[in-house]
Amino acid sequence: MLGESGHPRAMEGRRFFRTITSIRIGDLAVVGIAVLLYLLGAELEAFEAFYDFSREHEDWDLDEIALSIGVALLTFPILVWRANRRLRASNLALAEARQRAFHNARVDPLTGLWNRRSLVEKLEGAPEGGEAAVLLLDLDRFKPINDLRGHAAGDLLLIALSDRLAAVCKGRAEAFRLGGDEFAVLVKSGLDEAQVMQLAQDISDAISQPVEIDHWWAECGCSIGVSDWRSGMDPMRLLREADQAMYAAKEAGRGRIVAFDIDMGIEAERRASLEEAFEIALTRGDVIPHYQPYFDIETGALAGVEILARWTDPYFGPVDPGTFVRIAEDLGLIDRMTDQVLDQACRDMGAWPSDTRMSLNLSPTQFCDEGLPARLLGILDRYGISPARLEIEITESAVFSDQEMARNIIDALVSEGVGITLDDFGTGTSSLTMLAQVPFSKLKIDRSFVSGVETSPQSAKIVSSVLSLAQSLELDVTAEGVERPEELDFLRSHNCGYGQGFLLSRPLPAAALSELISGAGESPGRASA
Ligand code: C2E
Ligand code: CA
Ligand code: CA
Repeated sequence: MLGESGHPRAMEGRRFFRTITSIRIGDLAVVGIAVLLYLLGAELEAFEAFYDFSREHEDWDLDEIALSIGVALLTFPILVWRANRRLRASNLALAEARQRAFHNARVDPLTGLWNRRSLVEKLEGAPEGGEAAVLLLDLDRFKPINDLRGHAAGDLLLIALSDRLAAVCKGRAEAFRLGGDEFAVLVKSGLDEAQVMQLAQDISDAISQPVEIDHWWAECGCSIGVSDWRSGMDPMRLLREADQAMYAAKEAGRGRIVAFDIDMGIEAERRASLEEAFEIALTRGDVIPHYQPYFDIETGALAGVEILARWTDPYFGPVDPGTFVRIAEDLGLIDRMTDQVLDQACRDMGAWPSDTRMSLNLSPTQFCDEGLPARLLGILDRYGISPARLEIEITESAVFSDQEMARNIIDALVSEGVGITLDDFGTGTSSLTMLAQVPFSKLKIDRSFVSGVETSPQSAKIVSSVLSLAQSLELDVTAEGVERPEELDFLRSHNCGYGQGFLLSRPLPAAALSELISGAGESPGRASA
């Protein structure tokens, strides 16, 4: 572990001290020998003997030789001392360079926090039970800010939030930046569970405070996963558990703090197997479209169908679309899935009346790819289907990471005659902003309002206001989730154009839809009217 005792500077210092002390012992031996030689020389009157000898052999120039040796003996120690000084300086520079390299490899250059490598080393070197917990943090809403305001602003935001994180952790924990907008906190031993959760709360509070960057305010909360250190635990497992807790925090909504529990591990394993199974299913063509019809409320006639993807796994059984659509998005397979279901829908469409429209759900992540319109139109073209028969459903809670790109994609589709529908209207926070920015042709009132329409006066007011708003904006409206005849009556009496829901028809496989279409000539919409 990189504690005080293991710090690189301390280690270099100890090495230098050892060098100095070992030289001194050697020096003492040399001085001892010199004293012995002196005593021997004095005893034998060596100097006088040499003097007499040199007098006797004047022509040998022994005095000059002795003088040269004397001068050399005086100069030599000075040279040795200077060389030693240079050696020590270069050793020190080397030690400093080594220490700098060690430091740089473990520090995040942008924020100055320790990095992932440093965290792993600290965890690996930690004594058993030595640390109390690891927190993993992921910033909420950082990506849209970064995309919208540019990377320089994103960097400034990361620096400001890192400073806050380090300040909150001071004395209680160490902060790390793992990369992107992901951070970790290693809690010092000695903090109990309540103190760890308090630290997590303090961090969440600090991060969610607005940050001023170049005269605008950025607001960016965080989701935190907490994992406790248990004696003898593998550090990699600790990080994995903190990661699973953080993932659960993100799933639960933003700004949450979630502590790891054992069920999360099981859930994570299930998800990993599901991901694997989904990829295989997609390759084998096992993800297929079902169709939920929507009807003209006035006439009861079938107006169109919504394409809803279905996948039944041999082991897991029918998998909820919400789950596998998310998997497809996370694995980058959503475009492939969309193309496959649209392709199959175009084949099935041959059996439907020529005025039946179809609506296709697209995920917000798909609006980053400028090739999307050409791909979708290409599939329609292959089957000779007019783009005017296609509607695209964009959910109201969609946040486009690249607004300009999303707008270009939508414009390209609209210019070919494709309709754009605002799905789940009323559930998000940006209903009206979305309406103002995107050329929608239709909106779908979310089923949470429709299902309360005859029991809750509030829902009834909302639905009738949405209907008049749509009328003044000249938008078509589909009410989704119609389950009871009273709801349909309410919608009819308020001039809602289209209705969709289990009362009228559940989502159906292609064959069942064909049967419904060629059925007794009486649609469920009219039957229940
Ligand atoms: P969504 O677009 O809001 O689709 C409507 C959902 O409501 C469908 O659920 C449908 O089965 C359900 N539903 C319809 N009528 C009723 C009703 O009367 N009562 C109730 N309780 N539910 C009703 P499903 O098929 O489970 O789809 C869930 C979500 O998954 C969809 O919500 C959509 O956002 C997404 N999804 C489905 N297929 C695709 C797809 O191919 N691509 C993408 N990107 N998303 C898809
Ligand atoms: Ca939809
Ligand atoms: Ca919907």
